[in-house]
Amino acid sequence: PSELLFYCRPGFETDLVNELVDKFEHSECAWHPVATPQSGYVRMVIDNDLVANDVHKEVQLSSLVFARQMLVAFEPIVLDRNDRITAIIDQIVAAGWSFEELWQESPDTNDGKGLAGLKKSLQRPLESTLKKRQALRRKAGKRRLHLFWSSGDTVQVAMSFPQNRSEWPNGIKHLRSPSRAPSRSTLKLEEAWHTFIPSDKWERRLNAGMQGADLGAAPGGWTYQLVQQGMYVYAIDNGPMSEELMRTGQIEHLREDGFTWSPPYPLDWLVCDIVDRPIRVSEMVERWLVNRWCRHAIFNLKLPMKKRWQEVKRCLEYLEQRLSDENIEHECLARHLYHDREEITVYIRLKE
Ligand code: SAM
Repeated sequence: PSELLFYCRPGFETDLVNELVDKFEHSECAWHPVATPQSGYVRMVIDNDLVANDVHKEVQLSSLVFARQMLVAFEPIVLDRNDRITAIIDQIVAAGWSFEELWQESPDTNDGKGLAGLKKSLQRPLESTLKKRQALRRKAGKRRLHLFWSSGDTVQVAMSFPQNRSEWPNGIKHLRSPSRAPSRSTLKLEEAWHTFIPSDKWERRLNAGMQGADLGAAPGGWTYQLVQQGMYVYAIDNGPMSEELMRTGQIEHLREDGFTWSPPYPLDWLVCDIVDRPIRVSEMVERWLVNRWCRHAIFNLKLPMKKRWQEVKRCLEYLEQRLSDENIEHECLARHLYHDREEITVYIRLKE
């Protein structure tokens, strides 16, 4: 394999490429991107003799913002429509690879969704042939085989490794919209938790003894999520909150400015979905963290501008700098979530 393959939201290929350029700035890897606008994926083709598996280890998927998945891949093969299987199997067997699972995936585009039937029809024949050829086994270091279909006759054979991949098909966490939530953006906060908080840490980081603030809370989609976790919530917004949600009795609604309001005592959580300049939001969150008004923060940075990666980088570097100036040990993760459109979501956790 001679490349890495990344999935992203269609329309964000350039942002991902720009991010990769920065991420691999100090790498010995010489590479060039292959990225078609609106395609939903980026190929990072290695030009020198570095091994793709080693390059893959240089970066953690969780450190990338615009990538939903990161794989080691062969270059695409164009298949004979009468026999798609043989060429795929031959490539896998020739590589001497073995796996525990086979996932077939496609870009998050209409064309990509149209390939569901094809993938389904190939799953069993592929699996049984791979088993016969010993490329699919019960124990194979948790490696997963990915077949990435960019069209009905073009596929990339790729693989992923445990601890450095998305565990969701296509890198997408599908969530059902809770029928009682006041807005669909409720899913952004839920997806953020699934993305940033390991499942064995949920109990510690999200629980009924906690209190939070939701800045720009109306009509209450994010507040709903905090309330679901049993928290008490200060909901800050000039706009109206859902009455049904207010009846839970777990919310104090204050018609104040989220950028100047400060909590009456330190809280556990800060969440913010206000539409404003990313740097302004970052400065506000920084103030919360430096004053230790919260220990966890999740906030969106809206990105209506062209140079989205540059803006994200500027904000993340600013926060990183300010928190390290104050000797505040922390974890900072950021991701362009499936439910995010022209925005990304950031999670910061204080470690003390
Ligand atoms: N997260 C909410 C939900 O799930 O229902 C939706 C939030 S909506 C995208 C942004 C909200 O921010 C609006 O209700 C708006 O009134 C509020 N807002 C804008 N500027 C604000 C400010 N300076 N202080 C507080 N709220 C503000």
